Amino acid sequence: MKPKSFVLTNGPSPIYRVIVYLFALPAVAAIPVGVPGGVVEIRLPLSTKNVFFNEVQQLRLDNRAIVALPLTTKVGDHAIIVQSSKSRTELPFKVIAKTYREQHLTIENQRLVEPLPSDLERIEAESALMQNVYSQFSPMPKRLRPITRPVQGVVTSEFGFRRFFNGQPRNPHSGVDIAAEHGTAVKSPAAGVIRVVGNFFFNGNTVLVDHGGGFISMLCHLNTVNVRHRQRIEQDSIIGTVGATGRATGPHLHWSVSLQGTRVDPLIFIAVINASANGE
Ligand SMILES: [Zn+2]
Repeated sequence: MKPKSFVLTNGPSPIYRVIVYLFALPAVAAIPVGVPGGVVEIRLPLSTKNVFFNEVQQLRLDNRAIVALPLTTKVGDHAIIVQSSKSRTELPFKVIAKTYREQHLTIENQRLVEPLPSDLERIEAESALMQNVYSQFSPMPKRLRPITRPVQGVVTSEFGFRRFFNGQPRNPHSGVDIAAEHGTAVKSPAAGVIRVVGNFFFNGNTVLVDHGGGFISMLCHLNTVNVRHRQRIEQDSIIGTVGATGRATGPHLHWSVSLQGTRVDPLIFIAVINASANGE
């Protein structure tokens, strides 16, 4: 029979090695980590005036930058540029790989998969309108209250899914789809100003809400709309109801989060913002 002290007498035990590793961890964990399509929170010096990533100004909440990482962000080492009135410094962060699944969907109306030549003009005009909205926004909020999901329900399509409609590849999914019954109230995830109310070729009845600082929500496929252009709304104000207008396989809400023109995973964004909000 082996004596119980056998492990201890034979060099450093595995437990000891784990403890040494844990002490070594803070130096590693100090570098923030994100994924393509996510956001990464980086603490800022008090003197910070502006924060840039890839020459795009980033959302700031108190002494934190909420950095939007486009889906095309390369895995590896990156840095934000932090400007104060006197200096310009770089703060590093890492981007690690995330695998996005494929999703195959069947749309009965083939025209919504392969638009007619006469539809293309409308689609291009709608796309230009969206780009214009995403490039202009009201000032940064000093802080954000914890963000709420616009409807409760099962997420049926995650952000970043590589999508195929009737077998044809299309752009990665730019938001989350939350299934809910026809007519369920859709609430604003944060306070803001209504920037767009319209009916769009792919997105159906759609509302865009400017929450400030480049944070813009898009809510699509609505059955009814309860708000009007330029209306100021509070968090949880009812924007409309769940429907299946536009390119939809059934009633659900599509919710996109745009940060300074970059679409990010709304669920990662909520998790990061709400973790900070609860910590204060
Ligand atoms: Zn969607």
